[in-house]
Amino acid sequence: MAAKIIDGKAISAAVKEQVRAEIERDKIKAGLAVVIVGDDPASRVYVNNKKKACELCGIQSFEYALPAETEQNQLLELIDTLNADKNVNGILVQLPLPDHFDEKAVIERISPLKDVDAFHESNVGKIMIGNYAFLPCTPAGCMELIHSTGVEVAGKECVVIGRSNIVGKPMAMLLLHENGTVTVCHSKTKNLAEVCRRADILVAAVGRPNFVTADMVKDGAVVIDVGINRLENGKLCGDVKFDEVSEKAAYITPVPGGVGPMTIAMLMKNTLTAARIQNS
Ligand code: NAD
Repeated sequence: MAAKIIDGKAISAAVKEQVRAEIERDKIKAGLAVVIVGDDPASRVYVNNKKKACELCGIQSFEYALPAETEQNQLLELIDTLNADKNVNGILVQLPLPDHFDEKAVIERISPLKDVDAFHESNVGKIMIGNYAFLPCTPAGCMELIHSTGVEVAGKECVVIGRSNIVGKPMAMLLLHENGTVTVCHSKTKNLAEVCRRADILVAAVGRPNFVTADMVKDGAVVIDVGINRLENGKLCGDVKFDEVSEKAAYITPVPGGVGPMTIAMLMKNTLTAARIQNS
């Protein structure tokens, strides 16, 4: 039987509408600063989409587009200025940065209160112990998509492929917070297909087109595809071989139109949360 497609576009639109309505109702002044360094075309698309989402939600957006040759110190100084700016509630530095930057030092410079990506180590620590203000946008978006299916996480076998700090690890932690039995797979995992076949909920965050094939998926699983891969023909595709996996899974996210729009919606939600905390 063909899987139900989880409509990330529609769910993200609902989240953004909720943020917009709350901002209007409570007369909240919220601002998001987005910093982009260099001219990576994919980063430019993401930044433009974030600006559009801000407009839609009634969040003021401030864009800082810096040339690729910007020095680390100049970026750190800009972050200090934004940390002190009362109109800025959230700061997002678009990654990846050009090679000469120390990304970790840049992330650590952002005030944890304005770290709407939740990448700062103090926010990561809070997520680990389950006492947090913000969740990282992509894993939080995946959780919303899973919730939309009505499938309960508690007691389920959950497999996450990928262990990055941005997606895989926090994703595993959020599933664990909801009482899933979680396995994290990575490039050194043995018998990957066998481990994946155990999953009631399978999250792929690998960055390889069509990596997850039908033989790796249990009948009736929920499959969340985080991957965004650009093929030679210019088309986007996920980590999951959609055509064959959708014949086996019960629910599946498409690429595009699945996790991607949710990441931006959760960023809007985090910016609202940051504004509430800073204004209170
Ligand atoms: P990453 O490169 O940091 O991590 C990839 C992970 O995949 C690693 O942990 C690695 O161990 C694992 N891996 C690699 N080869 C493997 C193999 N053969 N078997 C098992 N595991 C393997 O990437 P990331 O930042 O976590 O992103 C993953 C994907 O998600 C990328 O396609 C990225 O573009 C996409 N992404 C999408 C969003 C979104 O909003 N939809 C956000 C962030 C990342």
